[in-house]
Amino acid sequence: MSRELIDLAIERLREGFPNKSRSWVRRALVRFMKNTVKEYGENVWVVRGLPELGDKYPTYVVRFKDGRYYCSCFESSWGLRRKSEICTHIAAVILYRNYRRLDSEVYASVVNIECTDYYLEIPSELKGRVRVVKSIRVIDSTDRLNPRHRVTYVVYSSEPIEVRAKLVCDGDVRELSLKLTRTRRYIVELLVR
Ligand SMILES: [Zn+2]
Repeated sequence: MSRELIDLAIERLREGFPNKSRSWVRRALVRFMKNTVKEYGENVWVVRGLPELGDKYPTYVVRFKDGRYYCSCFESSWGLRRKSEICTHIAAVILYRNYRRLDSEVYASVVNIECTDYYLEIPSELKGRVRVVKSIRVIDSTDRLNPRHRVTYVVYSSEPIEVRAKLVCDGDVRELSLKLTRTRRYIVELLVR
């Protein structure tokens, strides 16, 4: 497992549950690092119990249904208390899914520009197949109403396609032909952090 990917997967978990304690995150991480999560089917995972974390059962089943996670520990004697919470079995599954997603293959191309006014246009027929994410940093705010930015666009897709895009930078219009090349999802996320 890669350290950088784990850090990003944890960051995503924290963003999703900003009120959860450090110990909740730590317990989810212990479960994940001990490789206790196995995908069992679509939206079903089996999490091996860890007695050192207070688990009474050898396995727990986590399901994702109607936009919510459910864990078999909800049905245990502590169920009533736990139902309102998100247990760390579920948190471990979320971490596992985040990691898998970040580790997955994508095809991407990067465009860097420095301008005041900008946009990147992707042909509408590619919408749904191609996604664009960007990061923007102010590099010169001498003219406070029109600051200059450094913009990084990452164009990516699950397919190795070539994308014709229109890039506008301070009135300068350019047609780009972007060849999306193979990389991993977390690289895309690191580029636009
Ligand atoms: Zn649970």
